[in-house]
Amino acid sequence: MAISTINDIHALATQMSMYATCDRLHVGAVLFDDLGCVLGKGCNKSPENDVSADVQCDTHGHLVNDSGGCIRTIHAEMDALVDAIRNHRYCYSSNLYTTHMPCYYCSKTLIHLNIRLVIYEHDYVSKSSYGSGRNLLEKYKVKVISLKEWIKEYE
Ligand SMILES: [Zn+2]
Ligand SMILES: [Zn+2]
Repeated sequence: MAISTINDIHALATQMSMYATCDRLHVGAVLFDDLGCVLGKGCNKSPENDVSADVQCDTHGHLVNDSGGCIRTIHAEMDALVDAIRNHRYCYSSNLYTTHMPCYYCSKTLIHLNIRLVIYEHDYVSKSSYGSGRNLLEKYKVKVISLKEWIKEYE
């Protein structure tokens, strides 16, 4: 695994977001370790296993819940996690780069995965009444920082 800079990781996440299949939001995510090695990468798309794959929003339209949200896809962070597992890469206590702030649900799994750092490019304001992913992550002392802030502070 090559060691990447944050710019490399940003480019990879942006590239991944282009494979997203729900045009409500094209999201790309990359899990990486403290040395900058990429552990997993993903985008939002329908789940698939060895025997079947669900249809994609792009080709079959969105699957909309009562609140108007599309629920057809797994989110990019979860796709990146599965990618790491599939490739036997240990990603507990790693870091996440994502094109958009994680949602509340993904944030719960990221906390459970002991993710220490989340770098996001675009903020994502959740319409939910229970709060944002950011608030939840920060409650668990996960460092959440925008790409802009990261470059200003560390590059
Ligand atoms: Zn959709
Ligand atoms: Zn999510």
